[in-house]
Amino acid sequence: MHQSIKNIAILGSTGSIGTQALAVIAANPDLFCVQVLTAQSNVELLIAQALTFKPKAVVIGDEAKYQELKEALKNLDIDVKAGQEALCEVVVMPQLNMVLTALVGSAGLKPTIAAIKAGKDIALANKETLVVAGELINSLAKKYHVKILPVDSEHSAIFQCLVGEESDIEKIYLTASGGPFRGKDFEFLANVTKNQALKHPNWVMGAKITIDSATLMNKGLEVIEAKWLFDLAVEQIDVIVHPQSIIHSIVQFQDGSMKAQMGVPDMKLPIQYAMAYPKRVQNNFKRFNFLEYPTLTFEPADIKTFRNLALAFEALNQAGNMPCILNAANEVVVAAFLNEEMGFLQMSEVIETCMAKLDFVQEPSLEDYFETDKQTRIFAKHLVTNI
Ligand code: NAD
Ligand code: MG
Repeated sequence: MHQSIKNIAILGSTGSIGTQALAVIAANPDLFCVQVLTAQSNVELLIAQALTFKPKAVVIGDEAKYQELKEALKNLDIDVKAGQEALCEVVVMPQLNMVLTALVGSAGLKPTIAAIKAGKDIALANKETLVVAGELINSLAKKYHVKILPVDSEHSAIFQCLVGEESDIEKIYLTASGGPFRGKDFEFLANVTKNQALKHPNWVMGAKITIDSATLMNKGLEVIEAKWLFDLAVEQIDVIVHPQSIIHSIVQFQDGSMKAQMGVPDMKLPIQYAMAYPKRVQNNFKRFNFLEYPTLTFEPADIKTFRNLALAFEALNQAGNMPCILNAANEVVVAAFLNEEMGFLQMSEVIETCMAKLDFVQEPSLEDYFETDKQTRIFAKHLVTNI
């Protein structure tokens, strides 16, 4: 029995994905065991999680909170660490089978690489890592024989549709809810507040991805994520707005046949699928009822108004370090918008300026990605300050 237990590290355990992953693990103690928990600053929740799940190691990103964490866990046999570098140390622990990357932003890149090099399968929620360095991550995953299992609901949907298929994909349709501002025009968007943007119609998620959903950058990042996960050309990826978020995405095969994966929106399902793959696990999540959704609707994405989605396609077409520039600029503007330092529409303007002005590198090395990320953040912050 014990051999079949999967030992998992959760990077970002206090977040939306992290806490839902812990709920899945708590419901399946015979399948999963948490060995590592990490958080950036929410030390209270990290302590509570550590006391409940008794992992082998915990990491707090904010070093100022290390003493509090250490003190609270002193009677347990837990390795307590702090700082960004510690993430790379804990993911290589020999007993680990899988690392769930549920942290936000390009901060996920280094620990993901460390985990792959240590041969750990990756349950990937941290889409920014694939956006920044998808090609490099893929080649490392191949070299070290690790699986990259998608947690993002759309990519999980496509992954599930591909099980058992040997034929080529003609194209995929990534579904998008359209976010809280679907159908709105520039005039409306010019004045929307952070609180309006934080109200997503179908999903409760972390602040960054919720803003990304409102600007459609989330779908843009997902297009790039899909390219690397499923080895697709840009032309093979289409976005279709489906406001009910019941169909999570669609694969169209070379004979024109289409497969869709559907269900009520609940991230615990894709999280559980990635963790238990190739098995499915019985659960008590809410089941879909057709009569509650007599109509499922579809419409094109408005990329003229929501320019971030067009910018993401543009970055993917240019390739090289351009998606890295797009991502870093986006991380800066989302943080600034959440700080009420800039307006909703100005976010796209800053990203576009960064894409035009930063040094383009056609075949970036890992060092180039770190440098691009750094330089873009400096420049984007400068642009934000001068708004
Ligand atoms: P969140 O903000 O709710 O949680 C983020 C977690 O990462 C927290 O535990 C936080 O402490 C930690 N963290 C934040 N910054 C960090 C840093 N610099 N270094 C180390 N740890 C850090 O975010 P979330 O909504 O759970 O999203 C996590 C990732 O999953 C993102 O990449 C997001 O795009 C992706 N994702 C989320 C959802 C969702 O439903 N929430 C769906 C699909 C994909
Ligand atoms: Mg998604």
